[in-house]
This record gives sequence, structure tokens and C-alpha cells, in this order.
Amino acid sequence: MPFMPYEVEPHCTKSLSTSHQPTGINGRMEIPPEPWPTGLIERPEPLVRRILAPNPSPYTYTGTQTYLVGEGDRIAVIDPGPDDPDHIAALIAAIGTAKVAAIMCTHTHRDHSPAAKPLAGITGGPIVGCAPLALDDAGPRADAPFDRTYAPDRVLEDGEKMTGPGWTLTAVSTPGHTSNHLCFALEESGALFTGDHVMGWSTSVIVPPDGNMGDYMASLAKIYERDDRVYYSAHGAPITKPRQLVRGMIGHRRQRENQILRLLGKQPQSIEDMVSQMYKGLDPRLTGAAGMSVKAHLIDLEHRGMVSRSGDIWKTN
Ligand SMILES: [Zn+2]
Repeated sequence: MPFMPYEVEPHCTKSLSTSHQPTGINGRMEIPPEPWPTGLIERPEPLVRRILAPNPSPYTYTGTQTYLVGEGDRIAVIDPGPDDPDHIAALIAAIGTAKVAAIMCTHTHRDHSPAAKPLAGITGGPIVGCAPLALDDAGPRADAPFDRTYAPDRVLEDGEKMTGPGWTLTAVSTPGHTSNHLCFALEESGALFTGDHVMGWSTSVIVPPDGNMGDYMASLAKIYERDDRVYYSAHGAPITKPRQLVRGMIGHRRQRENQILRLLGKQPQSIEDMVSQMYKGLDPRLTGAAGMSVKAHLIDLEHRGMVSRSGDIWKTN
């Protein structure tokens, strides 16, 4: 079943052939033509290996990137990815004889965490990192994008560390994309594993009610204050100018917010009406994702007392 964790903004796509950085904050990159490095071990820096899972889609770019941190005795696996036998086999081959000290998940969308359980079963490594979602079977959070098999051995709070020979990973709490999202900072090299909080190919979509725009903006501001050298996200190329990108993302969200307030200033209207004006020429398959993003902004504005709703119709206060 398709799901919509990523924001989709069709006006400003940019081909990978000209740049490996998402220069247009408004844009998402076109998925490059194959071959992709699916299942292969890439090494963006000495302490870090990266393996691409075979789950490309309009929502995951070329797929989920799993990272291995450290070499030798004890290593960490970040975002093990989907429960796909080929991907798990590729991870096991890369892990080799090393001991897995930690299987770390940034959040529990189904393209990130379902391989944790089988990988733990094979390697004996503990699952640590983000909290499980407090799913309520009757509630709106129990929806398709979430991995409900996720059961961590240990939840990391903001600032808590996992260590191995030559590596230290510190949890950086970054709720917003999901309520349980964590980034992980590799202290030795200044890298930050950003999961879906900040990605190398697209802005992140915030899907309410678990996704929260107010929290997301606060989490962007939080990492903007850090001094990370590079971001490794779960989808897309490394981000080598992190603060510049985050500053642009904050500006982009503010622009969207202003656009919504302008539209509602003209007349009260529904999310559907707003999407058709804000996302002209949108691929119909992505209308739902765009609507989620607008809704996340509206809920945030509602909390701030700037808009209100009557049924499906929103208006400014
Ligand atoms: Zn996600």
C-alpha cells in the first residue's frame, strides 16, 4: 500500500545529472535512471558504510539507505530498512563477522524499521533508538505507514549515547516528521544521521496527527544550532552544507504558511481548494500527500490561534 511520508512539490524538480544537492528547497529531485547502487557497499567516509535497499518509489527516492557505523568488533546499524530478504542478506554480508552492538532506528515508518526485528534475530544485536509509537488500534495513528512490529530493547532519550570502538553515536531528539523521530550524531566525524527529518532529495512531509508541524519547525531550529559537518539522510545524497539547507527549509515552511494565510484571507475554503491553488499541475497520485502537508500547517496555525475550522472549511481568525 502506498504511503506518503514525503512532501511532493512538482514545480522545481532538478535532475541528479546536474547536481547531487537539492538546490531548490521547494523542489524534490527526480529519481535518477538506474543503475542505482542497490545492495552494494558504499563508503562515504572511513567510519561509515551505506547500503541502499531495493524499495524505490515516488516516496522513497531510490530507496532507503541503511548505514553501518564502525568496523571490526562492534558496529552500529542505522535504519535497517524494510523487511526485504535481499536487503537483509546484503546487510548480513556487509556485517560479516562483526558483532552488532546496536540496531538503531530513527523512526518507525515502514521503510525504516521493519528489518530491525529479523536483523536482531540473526545477529543477536539489540534494537535501540526511537520509541515505539503509542498506537491505538481504534485511533488514527494506527495507519499503514507505521511499522507496528517495532519493539526496541532500549529507547534512547535526547543526548543519550551508544559507543563502540572508535565511534560514539548520540541521540538528538527531532520530533515532527513523526513524534518519535531521532537523529544520531557521530561525534568522531561531525556527521549527523538525519533519517527523514532532513533529506538529501526532498523536503519531509508532516502527516498529522502523528506528524506535527510545530514540533518539526522546532526540530529544524534545534539542528540549525548544531555544528554538524555533513548530514547522512535515509534518502538521497549526503548534505554537505547542512546549515544552509536547514535555513532554506525553515524559510520554505514559512512561505507555505504565508501562502495558506493569504488564500484563507481571500475566503474561507477547504484543504482540497487550497491544494489545487498551491500545487498547480500536481500528479494526481500525490494530491493526498500535498493535502497532508497543508493540513499539518493548518493544525499548527490553529494551535497558534490564527485560523479555525467549521467542518471541512478553514478560515482566518
Ligand atoms: Zn519517514
